[in-house]
Amino acid sequence: MASALTDKLSRLVKEMRGQARITESNVQDMLREVRMALLEADVALPVVRDFIARVKEKALGQEVLGSLKPGQTLVSIVNKELAATMGEGVADINLQAQPPAVILMAGLQGAGKTTTTAKLAKHLIERRKKKVLTVSGDVYRPAAIEQLKTVTQQAGAEWFPSTPDQKPLDIANAALDYAKKHYFDVLLVDTAGRLAIDEVLMTEIQQLHSALKPVETLFVVDAMQGQDAINTAKAFKEALPLTGIVLTKLDGDSRGGAALSVRQITGAPIKFAGVSEKIDGLEVFDAERHAQRVLG
Ligand code: GDP
Repeated sequence: MASALTDKLSRLVKEMRGQARITESNVQDMLREVRMALLEADVALPVVRDFIARVKEKALGQEVLGSLKPGQTLVSIVNKELAATMGEGVADINLQAQPPAVILMAGLQGAGKTTTTAKLAKHLIERRKKKVLTVSGDVYRPAAIEQLKTVTQQAGAEWFPSTPDQKPLDIANAALDYAKKHYFDVLLVDTAGRLAIDEVLMTEIQQLHSALKPVETLFVVDAMQGQDAINTAKAFKEALPLTGIVLTKLDGDSRGGAALSVRQITGAPIKFAGVSEKIDGLEVFDAERHAQRVLG
């Protein structure tokens, strides 16, 4: 079924037919539709502005060759630019480190860190044949430690115990020692989140990062977060050298515009998408498919 935006663009394409060149005036109407679609998908306003400016620059003056019509050319520019903004190709997990390769999970509370930690453990066991250990540094919520234990067992990985009376740094170092002694390939470190950004949280995760020297620092972000995603992403990007993004809850009905905002703000590739609450609900992120969804 054709989407609302595709319908609108096709209509405009028809109006543009016969014009041999994309000009400022014929491009304006289409870009307005694209802009609306991106805003409806909850892409942050500054990101939409940048995007539209880039598309416009590429479109203007572009010769329309062969059978291609100006409208079709523009649609293709928009699609390509959208996919390129969200990252092209497959960005899998980097494990190139002296084992154990440490993966640090960062993000707000409720973003899906613990769930994603277990999903990732399963992915690494099944697809990459790795021996995986998980540990929780969330000493503020005993339930979070228990939750990681449960989902780690579901994933078939090993869980390193921790308790709320310990310091996150001590927990992480003990887990790292254990992982080295027992020849684990990967150590996944789940961390405490907060409902909003705060300094204590950021300092704590920065300390964990310095001590663990992770090969991957993954920013886990809820696709339903919409416009707020840009502020969360900014704060985590300033605090940590992020190496990748996991966009969760894409099974929800959001159009997933957060992908565009978060990708542009952090510059880090979107590596995975969470597509269900279940342990196997993790997919390698597909930028082109996601571009279609964002455009609606
Ligand atoms: P954390 O606080 O960041 O560790 O978040 P959790 O892992 O506890 O996840 C918060 C809630 O989101 C839980 O109810 C999860 O089951 C749910 N969740 C996480 N990822 C996904 C996803 O990809 N899709 C759906 N539908 N729910 C998810």
